[in-house]
Amino acid sequence: MRIGVLALQGNFREHAAMLRRLGVEAVEVRKPEQLGSLDGLVVPGGESTTFLRLMRLYGLDVAIREFAQPVFGTCAGMIVLDREHLGLVDIDVDRNAYGRQVASFEADLDLGDGEPLRGVFIRAPRVRDVGEDVEVLAEHDGEPVLVRQGRFLVASFHPELTEDTRVHELFLDAVKEAMSVRA
Ligand code: GLN
Repeated sequence: MRIGVLALQGNFREHAAMLRRLGVEAVEVRKPEQLGSLDGLVVPGGESTTFLRLMRLYGLDVAIREFAQPVFGTCAGMIVLDREHLGLVDIDVDRNAYGRQVASFEADLDLGDGEPLRGVFIRAPRVRDVGEDVEVLAEHDGEPVLVRQGRFLVASFHPELTEDTRVHELFLDAVKEAMSVRA
């Protein structure tokens, strides 16, 4: 299993380290032609306007739209994949929409397995609307923070910044499933 981590900017090292801990080959992606050999792609947190600018510059916006394998976006990665930007996940997102006082915070999230997941939110996007094909996997204060739509998984928080590997495992399950369908 080879997973790419978009490495233009932001938290790509932390994602790659977590994937390696889970026994997966993690590749830093900077060019569109690298996508062809990947079984999945992570779009990390960072600064979405910078991401979008660099992605356009390198042709990665078009390449990611054409990429047919599972994609996992966190924080700025969620913004990049939303309706307004690459249009791959049917959600409306507001950037930096948690108030100034709570721009960054941590909260326990419920994944439904009885074990709280510590969510680290850093100037996180706020999900304002989800389309009907979008599954909400975790909420904070009644608002979606982890959602899935088919092969896309997006989180407004940073699962790569804790020791808890469950969200990455969820993504890898989707990758394994897509690989078994192809085989
Ligand atoms: N605030 C950033 C943005 O709007 C996202 C923050 C993050 O990825 N930690 O792009």
